[in-house]
Amino acid sequence: MDGLSIAHDEDLLKDLECPVCKQYMVPPIQLCMNGHNICSKCRGRVQCCPTCRAKFLETRNVALENIARRQKYPCDNRRRGCLDLFTVEHINEHNAVCVYGKIKCPFKLNENCPWNSFKSDLKEHVKEAHTDCFTERSKFSSDLFGDVLTIVSCFGELFVYYKRRQDGRLYCAVQLIGTSSEASKYKCEFTLRATNGVEQIGKTLFVRSYIENFDTNFNSRKCLYLDEVEVRNFIVENRLHLTVTLSTV
Ligand SMILES: [Zn+2]
Ligand SMILES: [Zn+2]
Ligand SMILES: [Zn+2]
Ligand SMILES: [Zn+2]
Repeated sequence: MDGLSIAHDEDLLKDLECPVCKQYMVPPIQLCMNGHNICSKCRGRVQCCPTCRAKFLETRNVALENIARRQKYPCDNRRRGCLDLFTVEHINEHNAVCVYGKIKCPFKLNENCPWNSFKSDLKEHVKEAHTDCFTERSKFSSDLFGDVLTIVSCFGELFVYYKRRQDGRLYCAVQLIGTSSEASKYKCEFTLRATNGVEQIGKTLFVRSYIENFDTNFNSRKCLYLDEVEVRNFIVENRLHLTVTLSTV
C-alpha cells in the first residue's frame, strides 16, 4: 500500500469509530436527523445524538455498514507490536485477549488479586502468586469436592479450569485465554471414576474462550454438569476422582 492509501484508510477508520464508546461500529449502525452515526449498543443508552443533540431516526446507514463489513481493522495494541488486521466480527474479541494487551488476573474475583498487566507475563504471575492453583500438566486430577479455579499452562497456551458447586449441581469448564477460534482447536475430557474402578462418567467438550462469560457457559451447559446426587456415588473420604485431560482436536 502506498502512503496515500494508508492515510486514506486511517481517515476511514476514524469515521467508523462510534462517537460515544470509541469502538469500531458493527452493523446495525444508526443515524441521527443530521446524518451522524452511532453504534447500536450506544443508541440504546442515549436520548439524542451526542454530536449535534438532534433526534435519532429509525434509519440505518447501510452504505457505512457495507464499508464496515469489508474493512479490516487494526488491533488496539498496534503500537505495542500487534500488526494483525481483523474483520469487524473479530476485532473486539481479539482486542479482549490480544497477547500484546493487558489482562486482569483470573483470580481477581475469587481472591481479589489486583494484578493487571500483559498477557505474556500472566504465567509468571500465577506461578508465583497462586502456586497452588497452577499446573503445567495437560492431564491433572481435580479431587476437591468444592469450587476450584486452576490455571493450566500447556501447548504453549494458558487455560483456565473452573469447577463450581451450585444449585445442587457440579459444573466444570475449561477456557483458553484466547479467542474462540483459537479455543476450538482444543478439547477437554472429564472422567469421573468410582473407587471400584468400574463405574465411570466421561464427557468430552470443546474448550471455550476466556472472553465468554463463565456463568453463561454454565447456564447454557457448554460445560460438564452433573447432579450432586449422582456425583456423591463417586466420592470417597470427601475426595472426588475427577481427571481433566486437555488435548488438541
Ligand atoms: Zn458506541
Ligand atoms: Zn447528529
Ligand atoms: Zn492484537
Ligand atoms: Zn493474581
